[in-house]
Amino acid sequence: MLSYQHAYHAGNFADVHKHLTLHAVIDHLLRKASPISFVDTHAGRGLYPLDASETQRLAEYRQGVLPLWEARLDLSDEPLLASWLEAITGVQPDPQRLVHYPGSPWWLGQRLRRDDRLKLFELHPGEHDYLARQALADNVRHIHADGLAGLLASLPAATPRLCVLIDPSYERKAEYAEVADCVLSAMRKARHGVALVWYPLLPAGRHHELLERLRDGGLRKVWRSELTLHEPGEERGMYGSGMLVVNPPWGLGERLATAMARVTPLLGQASRYRADWWVEE
Ligand code: SAM
Repeated sequence: MLSYQHAYHAGNFADVHKHLTLHAVIDHLLRKASPISFVDTHAGRGLYPLDASETQRLAEYRQGVLPLWEARLDLSDEPLLASWLEAITGVQPDPQRLVHYPGSPWWLGQRLRRDDRLKLFELHPGEHDYLARQALADNVRHIHADGLAGLLASLPAATPRLCVLIDPSYERKAEYAEVADCVLSAMRKARHGVALVWYPLLPAGRHHELLERLRDGGLRKVWRSELTLHEPGEERGMYGSGMLVVNPPWGLGERLATAMARVTPLLGQASRYRADWWVEE
């Protein structure tokens, strides 16, 4: 039963964390010429109009992308944030107004080179219909299917390099274990691939199962970052956003730390960012 729709949360602080990390990883990977296969296992709609009724209902982007957008002139001296905000400006019909927030298919697809490829998996029929209506380049495929099974069936990749984003909605408790098992299997087939895995920080702490299963499964070089809005238990619901990067590009942690030091004050006084190696080399 799929009920999650990302439009209710588009542009929130977790999207900022996830897409800024993704943007930085892609930036590093594109420094080398060899082609890359990108896989987005849980693609969502692709582009989110912020005035959609779903998005306006919670208006989470007001404590996410909006304060960064409003501070974009002040942030223009921070290279990663400047290029991320410039990319967002590029999808607005009027560069002075923030009316769309781009989802992961856009972040992954906008800088593809001729020999790179991108597969977008989306299982929800309605969400897949939105995705299928997006203008996508010839080397992008959208597939109405389960993303974890789709990823494993796509390996080994046809290109020398691989970059995967796994961004489930975690509607089912079992998804934490399923994601971990999928990452372990995928990395056995693509040892040098880069995998980004997003997880929510919720008071129930279910993300520990994902983290521990990856460590106990023998995975190495797992870097973790977490962005929190407040302490757990202060309010109901998600208090933070987590990202794992398996085989992170060199220098990623420093670049994100510098950018995040400018982001957290804009998300509220209690917002914090931290990063470390979950499993070292
Ligand atoms: N990655 C998107 C982004 O950053 O813009 C947001 C994705 S949203 C968090 C999760 C999406 O996964 C939802 O659109 C949901 O319909 C879809 N989904 C849920 N289970 C899935 C599965 N097994 N395979 C593929 N997509 C799935």
